[in-house]
Amino acid sequence: MSNEQHGYLKFGGMNVKITGFLIMNGNGDQIPADAHGNNVAFTCSKCSHPVLASALENQRGSDFDHPVDCKGCGRGYWLDVRPSAEKLYIHVWRPNA
Ligand SMILES: [Zn+2]
Repeated sequence: MSNEQHGYLKFGGMNVKITGFLIMNGNGDQIPADAHGNNVAFTCSKCSHPVLASALENQRGSDFDHPVDCKGCGRGYWLDVRPSAEKLYIHVWRPNA
C-alpha cells in the first residue's frame, strides 16, 4: 500500500502524519514516545520533562531550523521524519549546548 493510500502525504509531502511510526533518538535507539497525527510526545533525554513536537512544516520541532525547546532544561530537539520507512528520529538540536 502506498503512502498516498494511507493519507500520510499532504501538501506536497511536507506535512506528514506520524501515527504509529517507530520513534528513535539520534543514535537509532527506540525510545518511549507517543506519536499521534502530526505530533509526537516524548520525554527530555536530559531532564525527563515532557516535550511535544510537531512534524508540520514550520512548527516547533519540525526540522533543524525550527527546534522545540524542553520547558524543563532548554535542550532543543528536532524531528527527522522518514515517511517511506514509517520512522521518526528525534535529534538533539545542539548536543553540546
Ligand atoms: Zn529537559
